[in-house]
Formats: sequence, structure tokens, C-alpha cells
Amino acid sequence: MKLESIALHEGYKSEEATKAAAVPIYQTTSYTFDNTQHGADLFDLKVPGNIYTRIMNPTTDILEKRIAAMEGGIAGLCVASGMAAITYAVQCICEVGDNIVSTSQLYGGTYNLFAHSLPRQGVDVRMVSHDDFDGFENAIDENTKAIFCESIGNPAGNIVDLKKLSDIAHKNGVPLIVDNTVATPYLCRPFEHGADIVVHSLTKYIGGHGTSIGGVIVDSGKFDWVANKDRFGVLNEPDPSYHGVVYTEALGPAAYIGRCRVVPLRNTGSAISPMNSFQILQGLETLGLRMDRHCSNAQTLAEYLKDHAKIAWVNYAGLQDSAYHTLCKSITGGRASGILSFGIQGGIDSCTKFIDSLQMILRLVNIGDAKSLACHPASTTHRQLNEKELESAGVTADLVRISVGIEHIDDIINDVQQALDKS
Ligand SMILES: *Cc1c(COP(=O)(O)O)cnc(C)c1O
Repeated sequence: MKLESIALHEGYKSEEATKAAAVPIYQTTSYTFDNTQHGADLFDLKVPGNIYTRIMNPTTDILEKRIAAMEGGIAGLCVASGMAAITYAVQCICEVGDNIVSTSQLYGGTYNLFAHSLPRQGVDVRMVSHDDFDGFENAIDENTKAIFCESIGNPAGNIVDLKKLSDIAHKNGVPLIVDNTVATPYLCRPFEHGADIVVHSLTKYIGGHGTSIGGVIVDSGKFDWVANKDRFGVLNEPDPSYHGVVYTEALGPAAYIGRCRVVPLRNTGSAISPMNSFQILQGLETLGLRMDRHCSNAQTLAEYLKDHAKIAWVNYAGLQDSAYHTLCKSITGGRASGILSFGIQGGIDSCTKFIDSLQMILRLVNIGDAKSLACHPASTTHRQLNEKELESAGVTADLVRISVGIEHIDDIINDVQQALDKS
């Protein structure tokens, strides 16, 4: 099936007991065992089945299957938020003394996790600008466990050359982990460009309705953890928490995603609720339709802003003169998603007046909602960063970000126009 059809059908056929056509919400904490042996076999990972909703749930399972299929991966793991997905994606293979190398153009929450939380727990994160390929080569050492990037950086709007980064990762025996939240599988499937692991905040375009927080990790199943045995002991050596199971032996190509479930998720518990999985499944059904509108609205708004006298600059990879226009063609199919940023003449004061004058577009820090949203990252999502950090994250003080919604484009432009008049 193509993406639009996978989004509606993958992983679920009307279930036997009730013939319910919609995916049921399995609002249960636990699942009964047939007998003691069955329980023991489940805990030993010898037979598939459900144990406890912190670790797996049938509603969530369908969401996992749908997104994994859309990304072209072998399996997915849904968790409570995008941040939990990123944390687990790293923690699954990193221990004290290890490091990862990441692009510096990152979502604010990821930046804080990488710059502060992980280092305080003994995992170093080396940040390199997304196009400094020598910088990536130089930053990798024998304790490096992954390269991390966002396919389209939020809010910098940069598009990453996934092919080049995955080549560098593989040459050095490490996987490439890609946060594909802004692009979504509808515009970019990172595995086709060599990535090994994909993470998403389901909160954004995939949910699309701004009601539910969630995250997912998807495994391509392609990275050879066994060939890189020395670097990835956690997947190749017996795990005492599972009677000495060796993940690469027990789960084969699903070793990484399996360990994500039974170690970080099981032991630290950022589980998604079945209700949120259900809500996100509703949003996922219309992802393609919404992305078409998000992209065309953003393109029209970017072109409008580019010629506006009060605008200092516009950053949108869909514009011909964008530094990322060529990569936009090769990585995201020529479409640049729904997020654009711009600077207003007069700097930070004009930005504040602009944002405060908006009437329809909401002032908030989310992205990917069906509604248009505006924010000033330097005073909100990226507030904790100092000037140098802001620069490396691609966030200037005068940057306004709009997550362009699916309203009628005339209403979006009218609102922007009247707010610019007041700025
Ligand atoms: C929002 C976002 C996240 C974090 O997701 P939550 O669901 O809010 O935890 C991670 N990466 C990107 C690119 C995001 O936009």
C-alpha cells in the first residue's frame, strides 16, 4: 500500500469479538496469562503477547505498526512524548562514558537534553553544524554510539544531507538517528537516504489536532549491530535483567527496538496512554491531506513575506533562493513542510508587536497543529540558550516562527498583514 492507505489500514482488521471497524481503545493496564507457564514464557520473550501496558498495548501496537510501515521500518515503539523517544533512542545504546555526535540545529527541548541532562548522566553530546561534515568525522571516537540530526531542523529550517551524514556514520560503524518530526514520512523517509533509526514527536503533524502528546522510535532493522560488536556490547552481551538474553541473538534485526522496549521503556516507564494512541491514530489518517495543505499554505505565505517591505529575511526551503532549496528537492521531495521563519525590520521590538497583534494565528510554542501558530523562540523555546548557543542552534533574536496551519490561505495572509502593519 501507499502511505495514504497505510495510514488508514495497516495493522488492523475488524477484530473478531465485536467486528469494530475503528481501532478499539484497549484501556487496560494488564493482560491475563493462560497459566503460570504462559506468564513465564512471556517474561522470557519466548512467545509474543501482552503483559502490562507500560510495555505494550494493543491500541498502541497498531499505531506502532502504521508508523513503522509508513517509514519503511521493521518495527516501532511508541512512548509518552517526542522527548521520551529521543531519550530512549540514545539511552538504548549509550552508557556512562559514551557519546553521540549531533547537529547543533535542534528543537529547544532536544538541545537542553543534549547540552545539559545527558552530559550530567555521563553521556557526552558533541554538537556540530549540520553541514560541517569534517566536523562530524573529527568528533567521532571509539566511544561514539550514534550520529543524531533532524531531517528538517526546528526552528532553523535547515535541511540535512542525510545521505552524506549516514555515509559518515556507517564508515565509522555507528547508526544515524533522525528526528523526522517536521518532515513526516509523507515528505521524507530517512531510511531511503541511509538512516538507521527514526524518531518522531507524534504531538506535531502526525497527531495534527493539538490534543495529545506522544513519541515514536522506528527501527529500519538495517544497522549491523553484530558486525560492530565491540562498540555495541549492550546488544551483543548477555543481559542479566532477562536471564542473560543476548538481544542480537534473540531478536535478530529487531535487537535495538526490542531493547528500547524491554530496558529503557520497561525500567523507566514513559509509556503512552492507550487513549493518546487512539487520538494520534485519528490524526494519522489524514496526514497526507493535511501535509499537502500545510506545504502549499507555507509556500504561499513565504512568497508573500519575501516581497513585503517590513520583512528583513525569510527562511523557507521551498523558496528558490533558499540555501536549502537543492536539498529540499533531494531529501523532502521538493516540499518544505509547514514551518517558516522570518525576521522583521526593527528587530526584537517589532517581533514582539507583530506576535502580540495576531488575531487568528495562535501565540504558542507547538508546531504541526491544523491551526496556524506563531512563536518567538528566543523568548520561549530557546530562552535558556545564551547568545552563542542561539547562533549555533540557528535562532536569531529577531526570528519569528510560524507553523502554518490548514486554514484558508487568505485568512492567514490577512492576519499576518494586519499584524505587520502594527509592528
Ligand atoms: C516537539 C518536538 C520534539 C519533542 O516532542 P514532544 O512530543 O513535545 O516531547 C522533538 N523534536 C522536534 C523536532 C519537535 O518539534
